[in-house]
Amino acid sequence: MPELPEVETTCRGLRSTVMGLSITDFWCDWEKMCSPKPSAIKSRVLHAKIDSIERKGKNILIHLSTKETLLLHLKMTGHLMYGTYKKINGMFVPDDQNKALHDPYNRFIHAAFSLSDGKTLVFCDARKFGKIELLTQKQLSSHSRISSLGPEPIDNSFTVEHFKNKLRAQKRSLKPLLLDQSVFSGIGNIYADESLFRSKIHPLRISNMLQDSEIEKLYTSVREVLQTGIDFGGDSTSDYRNIFGERGSFHGKHKVYRRTNKPCLNDGCEGTIQRIVVGGRGTHICPRCQTHI
Ligand SMILES: [Zn+2]
Repeated sequence: MPELPEVETTCRGLRSTVMGLSITDFWCDWEKMCSPKPSAIKSRVLHAKIDSIERKGKNILIHLSTKETLLLHLKMTGHLMYGTYKKINGMFVPDDQNKALHDPYNRFIHAAFSLSDGKTLVFCDARKFGKIELLTQKQLSSHSRISSLGPEPIDNSFTVEHFKNKLRAQKRSLKPLLLDQSVFSGIGNIYADESLFRSKIHPLRISNMLQDSEIEKLYTSVREVLQTGIDFGGDSTSDYRNIFGERGSFHGKHKVYRRTNKPCLNDGCEGTIQRIVVGGRGTHICPRCQTHI
């Protein structure tokens, strides 16, 4: 699932491509992804100008000149792309020199916004769990995915004291706590595993039992790992592609995620990476570096 760095990469791409353009048409062949129905979205976004792009956790907010907002969530396999497309037999296919748009991972297009520059913003989603919602300002502020969001770990205002208070306030295993969007927004499976490994803390450790020095290490690791994810344009272990259909490269930087049975990369450690299950999620650890006290 795209996490904070992937969604941030997409938002940066949107700002460099679609800002200031008007929407000239909307198409969707998977009604379940839309709220309200595609025909209602179309009638309300037609001729609206894209004023600004905002990210909140893993949510993409496209603010329109009509004072309404498109709230998009990529869910498991979604990504947005911008380019020249043509409609063939009712389907959007790339008609673009950019070879990346022709990548087989980019062919599952289920929604498309035609734009005033003649290009199209498409929503590609192999598993079709993605969401497109059109909301008034009031609906947006009370939306369950927005109103419940915890603070962003990469915000400048998010201090180690905030982090410490969040961990100490609960008595929960660390991994599910890090993934809980109402506690911290934007962290998912990959970045949680990488952060815990880099701070040498076991994912089953209980949040209010950590020592100050461990909390400080984890705080630094979470922020560094998320920032590195952004710097490398996101992670394309799975379907994620950026706005131009290209892969990110953070998956080449993994130290633990999906490195099962490979040697630990920490200096002097002869451990082997193992996959365990924590809170129903596949989790990768070095059992020598991350001991379960
Ligand atoms: Zn190790």
